[in-house]
Amino acid sequence: MMPRIRIAHLPTPIEPLPRLGAVLGGIKLWVKRDDLTGLAGGGNKIRKLEYVLAEAQANGARTLITVGAVQSNHCRQTAALAARYGLGCILILSGEKEVSPSGNLLLDRLFGADIIFCGAEARDQVIQKVFEETWSAGKRPFLIPLGASTPIGTVGYLTAFEEFLAQEVDVDWIVVASSSAGTQAGLVLGALKTRWKGKILGISIDQPAADLQQRVAGLVNETAERIDLKVRCRPEEVMVNDEYLGKGYGIPSPQEIEAIRLFARYEGLLLDPVYTGRAAAGLLDLIRKGFFKPQDRILFWHTGGTPALFAERYRSLLGG
Ligand SMILES: *Cc1c(COP(=O)(O)O)cnc(C)c1O
Repeated sequence: MMPRIRIAHLPTPIEPLPRLGAVLGGIKLWVKRDDLTGLAGGGNKIRKLEYVLAEAQANGARTLITVGAVQSNHCRQTAALAARYGLGCILILSGEKEVSPSGNLLLDRLFGADIIFCGAEARDQVIQKVFEETWSAGKRPFLIPLGASTPIGTVGYLTAFEEFLAQEVDVDWIVVASSSAGTQAGLVLGALKTRWKGKILGISIDQPAADLQQRVAGLVNETAERIDLKVRCRPEEVMVNDEYLGKGYGIPSPQEIEAIRLFARYEGLLLDPVYTGRAAAGLLDLIRKGFFKPQDRILFWHTGGTPALFAERYRSLLGG
């Protein structure tokens, strides 16, 4: 058994989406509510962090260092976890600094994280420097890579897949936002381990399909090795769609705004403007294009991110 701390509110519910399904022509839809994992606004990262924090503790960590975008949900969840466990937290954020913090960044500050802004190019050097300084200061840093998508973090989504199976909601498809690959890799590993018959489709948030397939398969294999599972995965077996990258990371398209509105107006559900909005826009487009069979049952795996809805930069887009 992989060491784990228990902090997420699990199992997260699976709920039907009858009104949204009806408006989309009678398709059978469910949602897995990982926006309700509990800590500090919820989201998918806490499932990975339950394992990564146990690893950090075993290493004697007293300060967590991690990286992400300015509106990173992963950084917000890490900062909250650090607060909860009495650890220091340093966030290295790339992107435009916000004059008055909002959304996730506001929450990072509230959790008492130290925040360093840097350009994406300089990031690796900054990480190195901050790590060494923190070490020299005797604060025992532990570096959590982007999205906590390490083989150990990925176990969080293997466990999540097993949780989903135990909930006995039979579906043919899981559709999920995919970026640093740990979430999809954990689900794919779970499906391989249990010989699940359904399909897992990752909607790429920020990279070409070939790159993401490679990352997911790589993480599946590294994780499997780590926990002595005999399954292996090739990149071409990983289903990824990269048709919804639009103008890039964190820039919502009109289709994404529409998806966010539809989930809100038909189901009272909140998506986010970076990840789940993009994945839902992809899902809606694929449904409308007839990609799925009419009788297919589809589970949309909600990965959280709703605090970003309240980021200043999205206000004019969403408020109209
Ligand atoms: C990080 C994140 C994802 C992507 O998960 P990965 O494991 O990085 O692929 C999806 N949705 C939300 C809301 C996220 O914060």
